[in-house]
Amino acid sequence: MKTKPEEIVALLREEIAGYDTRVRRDEVGTVLEVGDGIATVYGLDKAVYGELVELETGVKGMVMNLARDSVGVVLLGSDAGVREGTVVRRTGRAADVPVGEAMIGRVVDVLGSPIDGLGPIETTETRPIEHEASGVVTREPVNVPLQTGILAIDAMVPIGRGQRELIIGDRQTGKTAIAVDTILNQKGQDVICIYVAIGQKASSVARIQDTLKRHGAMDYSMIVSATASDSAPLQYIAPYAGAAMGEYFMEKGKDVLIVYDDLSKHAVAYRTLSLLLKRSPGREAYPGDVFYLHSRLLERACRLTKEYGGGSMTALPIIETQAGDVSAYIPTNVISITDGQIYLETDLFFAGQRPAVNVGLSVSRVGGAAQTRAVKKTAGTLRIDLARFRELEVFTQFASDLDAATQQALDHGKRLLELLKQPLYHPMPVNRQAVILYAATNGLVDDVPLEKVRDFLLSFAAEMEEEHADVMADIQESGNLSAPAIETIRAALEESKRRVSGTWQA
Ligand code: ATP
Ligand code: MG
Repeated sequence: MKTKPEEIVALLREEIAGYDTRVRRDEVGTVLEVGDGIATVYGLDKAVYGELVELETGVKGMVMNLARDSVGVVLLGSDAGVREGTVVRRTGRAADVPVGEAMIGRVVDVLGSPIDGLGPIETTETRPIEHEASGVVTREPVNVPLQTGILAIDAMVPIGRGQRELIIGDRQTGKTAIAVDTILNQKGQDVICIYVAIGQKASSVARIQDTLKRHGAMDYSMIVSATASDSAPLQYIAPYAGAAMGEYFMEKGKDVLIVYDDLSKHAVAYRTLSLLLKRSPGREAYPGDVFYLHSRLLERACRLTKEYGGGSMTALPIIETQAGDVSAYIPTNVISITDGQIYLETDLFFAGQRPAVNVGLSVSRVGGAAQTRAVKKTAGTLRIDLARFRELEVFTQFASDLDAATQQALDHGKRLLELLKQPLYHPMPVNRQAVILYAATNGLVDDVPLEKVRDFLLSFAAEMEEEHADVMADIQESGNLSAPAIETIRAALEESKRRVSGTWQA
């Protein structure tokens, strides 16, 4: 049978028409299987890694796996109603979140939708949640302090704007408390704070929101929340969404403080996701790229040069250890990525030394350059004195009679530890830190009874504020401790000691 030319033409036409539909079919796929928040989708041949897709049911997803003839999509919402054959559409854009000034003071989920019941958030801009970190030429050395208001930290492990400082410790050792205190202390400092809650109880997040609100910190803060009841994909993208929201402000020249609470749970969420995507598990069953997971996140924290707006983003990631094991996989990873760590210890915490900062193991690799001079000058010997104290304490545990010099060093160390205790939500301004540190490190309060030393110094600092307001204002503004200021402090301290020493004998 011969084919007529018209038929060939018709066939060609059909073929061409068919070609057209095939192209369009690339943009639309169908679900092959779904479970645990992961959908395997057939037909999205052109989809790219990280692309946002939309399912028929209205839920959004993100492309995470590219296989030969299917893609793995993590669902950013409920998988209710999704079944085999559900239509999935490409959007052609990377997963993004709304950003803007309107987000300040709000609590949002990881897609930027409000969850605080205060109505919709009016934003005009969006930013991709995954974004390349600023390059080397756009960065400036960290040299402006970010005051935490916590004496033990500002004195010994100072943090600079643009730094990444890890807060690490076992469960219930006051990790969150340090981050929250730092946020409270940014009041009036022109710093925008973002608290990213990952895998925590909704009640804990509500408590933090309440604390921030009560202390007037919600005026410059926002909370990004992916609680434990949210799916693993939502917990996984939470810190990236928070970072995108922070970068918006940083590029506008503002200073941003972002807390990731906590990255251990983030790593667990990513492990769950990876195993569900059938990626092969490695050490501690984490996927091979778990280091990259946190390095690309924390690399986004930086301080920009003047030409790029001069903004900064300081990151305080939190890691929870198991029984103080810092050599586990995730802790070692994050320790190596950050510029230092604040190590909190259960033993200290229960011994009443709160915040439970372990002075020996806590370091700040860049903050020294960004430390306020008044504090730097006065805290100079603090670390060494405490190290010496710890050593002596171990050696003299069973000794009965000690020589005078050893006894004196022990007493001095005990006093220093005593004044590093600080209750919750009581951040201390720089000038008070400087006064207290000056008095303590120079041994000026070694004659004050141990149990009275903290109260005495606190009320002395308050007294200074009242009676020598000019000196205190000068320290606060210049960030320096001048010779006349030292003179005043010494005289006032003697005077104060004389006045209250009568009550010590009792
Ligand atoms: P989790 O592992 O559950 O996240 P965490 O390490 O974040 O715990 P927090 O929740 O910050 O610890 O603190 C645990 C408890 O210790 C809280 O009840 C808090 O009130 C108390 N706490 C923390 N810091 C101090 C402090 N400086 N002084 C007194 N109490 C404190
Ligand atoms: Mg916590």
